[in-house]
Amino acid sequence: MIILHEHLPQEAEHIAEIVRQIYNIPIRLDDQILRNFFPALLKFQGHLTSQPWKEDTLSEIFSGEKILILTPRDLYCNDHSKDDDWIFGYSRENVAVVTVARMKKRDRQPSETLHIPEKDYLKRIATLAVHEIGHDIIGREHMQPAVWINTKTDYKLPLGPHCTDNRCAMYEVVDIQAPSKEEGYMQLGEEKKYDAGLNDLLERMYPEMLCFPCKEAVNIPERYY
Ligand SMILES: [Zn+2]
Ligand SMILES: [Zn+2]
Repeated sequence: MIILHEHLPQEAEHIAEIVRQIYNIPIRLDDQILRNFFPALLKFQGHLTSQPWKEDTLSEIFSGEKILILTPRDLYCNDHSKDDDWIFGYSRENVAVVTVARMKKRDRQPSETLHIPEKDYLKRIATLAVHEIGHDIIGREHMQPAVWINTKTDYKLPLGPHCTDNRCAMYEVVDIQAPSKEEGYMQLGEEKKYDAGLNDLLERMYPEMLCFPCKEAVNIPERYY
């Protein structure tokens, strides 16, 4: 697997070390600025997620090897709501993406400078990397569909299948701190969850990051090697 980072060498090194430990896959690093890969989203001062054809083109350049992109850009999966459509990362077949834009402060506000201890920052981004790669290589039989629901506006953002064990890196997070009941919640299958903050997950997460059913369901395809 390749970690393609937009000049984030220290972050990329750390993620590589953790992902190697968790999934036991070979990883190499490549430092490249991805111009035009994430379309500019000027009204939110950010970028949209990449289009599948660009991911296919990038994938061809790297002979189909799995790519994890690490970017400082603030990413949105939609242009409807600045408060709801921002994301920490996403996962598709060729490409998984993690952005560090909202990883640097106590809350989820985007920042270029670090406002928290470096070890906490690195733990956040490594957990997201394990999570996004996990979407591609962990079987989903034991997972449930997650949806972010904004209580004030009733806006719903589908987030895909996620683990139901809240100590597992494949549990979904919708913010840095779990949102208050007034703000919203994560629907996970039939249940309403109020514990979907990244900080909360990091505090209770298994030392080995994945729960037993997730570990059992890991199946790494050829394109990772
Ligand atoms: Zn996820
Ligand atoms: Zn799990």
